[in-house]
Amino acid sequence: MQYVSTRATSASAARNPQSFSDILLAGLAPDGGLYLPAEYPQVTGAELDAWRKLSYAELAYEILRKFATDIPDADLRDLTARTYTPEVYRNARADESGADITPLRVLEDGANGKLVLQALSNGPTLAFKDMAMQLLGNLFEYALARNDDELNIFGATSGDTGSAAEYAMRGKRGVRVFMLSPHRKMSAFQTAQMFSLQDPNIFNIAVEGVFDDCQDLVKAVSNDLEFKARHKIGTVNSINWARVVAQVVYYFRGYLAATTNNEQKVSFTVPSGNFGNVCAGHIARMMGLPIERLIVATNENDVLDEFFRTGVYRVRASNETLHTSSPSMDISKASNFERFVYELVGRDAERTHALFRKVETHGGFDLSGAPGSDGDEFKLVAQYGFASGRSTHADRLATIRDVQRQYGITIDTHTADGVKVAREHVQPGVPMIVLETALAAKFNETIVEALGQDAARPAGFENIEALAQRFVVMQPDVGLMKAYIAERTGL
Ligand SMILES: *Cc1c(COP(=O)(O)O)cnc(C)c1O
Repeated sequence: MQYVSTRATSASAARNPQSFSDILLAGLAPDGGLYLPAEYPQVTGAELDAWRKLSYAELAYEILRKFATDIPDADLRDLTARTYTPEVYRNARADESGADITPLRVLEDGANGKLVLQALSNGPTLAFKDMAMQLLGNLFEYALARNDDELNIFGATSGDTGSAAEYAMRGKRGVRVFMLSPHRKMSAFQTAQMFSLQDPNIFNIAVEGVFDDCQDLVKAVSNDLEFKARHKIGTVNSINWARVVAQVVYYFRGYLAATTNNEQKVSFTVPSGNFGNVCAGHIARMMGLPIERLIVATNENDVLDEFFRTGVYRVRASNETLHTSSPSMDISKASNFERFVYELVGRDAERTHALFRKVETHGGFDLSGAPGSDGDEFKLVAQYGFASGRSTHADRLATIRDVQRQYGITIDTHTADGVKVAREHVQPGVPMIVLETALAAKFNETIVEALGQDAARPAGFENIEALAQRFVVMQPDVGLMKAYIAERTGL
């Protein structure tokens, strides 16, 4: 399996195909594009039949080996078995195959159709990012050991991504994590999740400033290419290909759990921000998984809903981006969207490059086919199964209340955006699976606002705020930041 950049024109430096291991530790391709397989591996009906009986770990192995063809099968089997276990996914429901890592719960099965939740937040940080990040931790450790190398992950977080990365990388040989967060700006729960880690390879840096100051620091340090190379600095952001492909697995799992034969179809609704999660659903569909529709659910930051309704992609300025009660979907542009646009324009790298150059110069592009637009490919969007919807704070509160009242389940704010939008798209005869992307306990403030009571905390999290915390506070100063990293890498 070879990988190409979405901008790999004949003039580009990245036109040579790469292997899975080559791009595992990489972010963007050198030409600024994103990596994708040269073609999608296909899944046969016989394979789907056989996969119905597999555990999550075995299914992950079968799917990943189609993409990571340069990792020996025995190693990949070991990596997936160590990743997707009930020890890591503590709240997973036991079933005959050991543990159902992503169990389904039927909310309703009436005349209007069937609405199902797929739990993706049974991992250590109670959000779906664990599903991919936990595998990444094991893959990184494996790849670094093979090359006798090391990696220093450097990033900024306002919540979910940073904690998922730290819990995935804690104790991993060859890996250190330097994670910036705005001092005293995260919730007490999220702060405690990150800062209570005592592992010597995890460094939490609370920056005196806001999230933008943290991101500016990351950019400033990463733009010093000499420093970046010498200190082996990398990232684990949502464009990482291995993260996307790890997420493909639970679409298969959800489909297989909701159906009894391959003639049946399902749809998915995906609470979306950077288009990483739903991009994995698109890939599953391209591999031949019988998905009827993929519904992109956004919050008030509706860049993606706008595109899927109109064909116009218009990124927002950072001061246009709203802070909402589903904060992990607060984005100004969708960093994985280029992977789908590349497909939509017929894998034309020249056009993809031109369109995303226009995003930089003009803030977006228009594929609606209207006079003066940049193309008419929007008319093909429905063929890929995509539709969308949008949810607001008021919708979120109403949906959390309604789901609690009708089914006795407390859903989190992001999942509530999904349920709200899913209800607008559910069809009789096609189960609609809503991906549950976090547990309510992580966003308790809004749960209290909606229900007048606290969200239940899973076992082990009751008293997390009382644990000892390990972090440093730093002024937003590039020199200080570099010195701090250099001292600890010893490179
Ligand atoms: C990251 C995140 C999302 C958005 O996922 P994308 O892959 O960025 O589209 C939704 N919900 C939660 C809880 C998240 O942490």
